[in-house]
Amino acid sequence: MITLKSRYLGAMLGLAVGDALGAPVEFKERGSFPPVTEMQAGGPFNLQKGQWTDDTSLALCLGLSLVEKNGFDPYDQIEKYIKWFREGFMSCTGHCFDIGNTTKAALLRYEENKDIYAGSVDDPPTNGSLMRLAPIPLFYFKSPADTVKYAGLSSKVTHAPINCIKTCEDLAKYIQRALHGESKMEIFRDSTIDFRKSYEEVSGKGTAIECLEGAMWCFFHSKSFDEGVKMAVNLGDDTDTTAAVFGQIAGSFYGVEGIPESMLSDLFDKKLIEDVALKLFSSAGV
Ligand SMILES: [Mg+2]
Repeated sequence: MITLKSRYLGAMLGLAVGDALGAPVEFKERGSFPPVTEMQAGGPFNLQKGQWTDDTSLALCLGLSLVEKNGFDPYDQIEKYIKWFREGFMSCTGHCFDIGNTTKAALLRYEENKDIYAGSVDDPPTNGSLMRLAPIPLFYFKSPADTVKYAGLSSKVTHAPINCIKTCEDLAKYIQRALHGESKMEIFRDSTIDFRKSYEEVSGKGTAIECLEGAMWCFFHSKSFDEGVKMAVNLGDDTDTTAAVFGQIAGSFYGVEGIPESMLSDLFDKKLIEDVALKLFSSAGV
């Protein structure tokens, strides 16, 4: 029996574990690196083993904002994202060492004009709002309608293209169903993702649509967190984010006990991530 508290911990720690496992091979093409099987150091940002990137930092910002403001406050959210960007708030290394182009463009626009919905429909439809999403379905666990509504709005703070909004709405819905203990078939009952594709046909590339498809494909076609997270990372390209999106749904589905102990023990500042997950659990009033 997987408890709801375990699923909350799983959602946030799963996100961070996927991020940290993928970070050392981020931007590498599929097949161009030895398959990743465990946490390792290195990568484009020269991180220590178990350190995570912008995906987890921004998810922690969003989670803390929902808890501290007891609800959806886009002003507070973007202020926290700015604090990360400018001061390294919620960063593993104390500074912002990586930022997606779409997120950066939005934060710079916000600093200029103070429009809190800083995403632009003209920006590329990338996966930067998907990778930080889990706190929304965790906080709004009791209301499927609010989960979908605020998932879409949370995207618009930095990512306004319709595919970004739509994929966030879909992922939030899937995570919420996983938190409720639904089966994989039930979770994806109304999904447009084509699970008949082969592993070769899905990708780890950085658009929101490709990212959601790749991550959900790995979840649907694996039997455990361990198997699926390696499939997600080894898709290549945007490895940390594909695996972070996988980790959100798989952690919600299998609970924290489904995440390999070796990966959890290597995770940088696990306590901080647990703390935010538990605060979200308390705030959800479940
Ligand atoms: Mg990242």
